[in-house]
Amino acid sequence: MIVHRLSLEGFRNYESLSCAFDPGINVIVGENAQGKTNLLEAIRYFSACRSHRARTDRELISFGRDSTRMEMELESRNREFHLEALLRTGQRRSLFSNGVRLKTAAELSGILNTVLFCPEDLSLIKSGAAERRRFLDDAISQLRPRYAQAISVYRRLQEQKTRILRDFQEDRSVVDTLETYSLQMCQIGAQIIHYRAYYLEKLNRFAPDIHREFSGGREELGLQYRTVSGVTDPLGPTAQIYNQLLEHMQAHRRAEWESRSCLSGPHKDDIEVTVNGVSARTYGSQGQTRTAALSLKLAEREISRDDREEYPVLLLDDVLSELDPRRQEFVLNHISGGQVFITCCEEEKQGNLRAGKVLRVENGRIV
Ligand code: ATP
Ligand code: MG
Repeated sequence: MIVHRLSLEGFRNYESLSCAFDPGINVIVGENAQGKTNLLEAIRYFSACRSHRARTDRELISFGRDSTRMEMELESRNREFHLEALLRTGQRRSLFSNGVRLKTAAELSGILNTVLFCPEDLSLIKSGAAERRRFLDDAISQLRPRYAQAISVYRRLQEQKTRILRDFQEDRSVVDTLETYSLQMCQIGAQIIHYRAYYLEKLNRFAPDIHREFSGGREELGLQYRTVSGVTDPLGPTAQIYNQLLEHMQAHRRAEWESRSCLSGPHKDDIEVTVNGVSARTYGSQGQTRTAALSLKLAEREISRDDREEYPVLLLDDVLSELDPRRQEFVLNHISGGQVFITCCEEEKQGNLRAGKVLRVENGRIV
């Protein structure tokens, strides 16, 4: 996958930009707050259909404007695509692919795949389970549009059920409504668990090798999918998962009423990461957990390539400056083959990079 060109109109601090990229390594340099991350954010938007850091699309629109237009020309699956996103305040966004208006964001899925790596990702292992779930959700969604749909339906159900639980009264109609939500959450939940379990299998095919090489053969990385305790085989048939989810949810029905929150379901899932057999979250050193996080991200890139038969676009935001020279070296040795965008502050940081193109960003302009 190669992004050839990006055009922005009223996006964050970019009033107007049209920029061509190198098919290899693109280094984006500039002082703080000039628009380096904004540029990556715009590229990422076309793969995830949302920003990785904004809560709403509204934030992406330049101050003082009421719309933004983003356009991208790219090559994917040996085809040329022209993607366009039009965001307007108070209106639904419009997405186009080769001039055809898309009905749902899911239709955009699979055209551009990106793997984003930013400094916060280095604490992926030490963070709470929500961060690891997000990692899984973002990674799987890009490869499987149905998963993205399932996640968004599940979230909506969970929100609605939580709202009902919040002012719960033991009343026949309320209990019935809750039961309907529970059933639906178990149905969608079973699909989610199925996808996640398979993705974990793939992570286990790539990440431990990367981690082993990274640690000079001293460390063995283990990844274990942790889901609802009643589910005996997350890789098994979804009908079976569904039944087990239902059983678990029913066993926790009263507890849910009392705590007024959704206690049972894959919204509590986690990945248990171990290094040499012990929990990395609890016992891992800084270096070990960073290495493990890096290995997960690099594995995500390999999985995407395995699935799509071409490398996803790699977006490295400020990450090199956060790494010691040995880890920098390792990352740089593992990014050949696909298109890469790297942001950095000082010029010396790109010392051992064979940049195809250097883009200097200054106050929302490429100079
Ligand atoms: P750093 O090196 O600190 O990470 P950066 O170059 O990555 O900096 P960005 O995050 O890309 O910086 O850009 C931040 C700039 O964009 C800030 O000055 C911010 O005020 C501006 N900005 C963010 N959102 C908008 C918006 N909606 N409209 C206009 N400007 C915005
Ligand atoms: Mg930045």
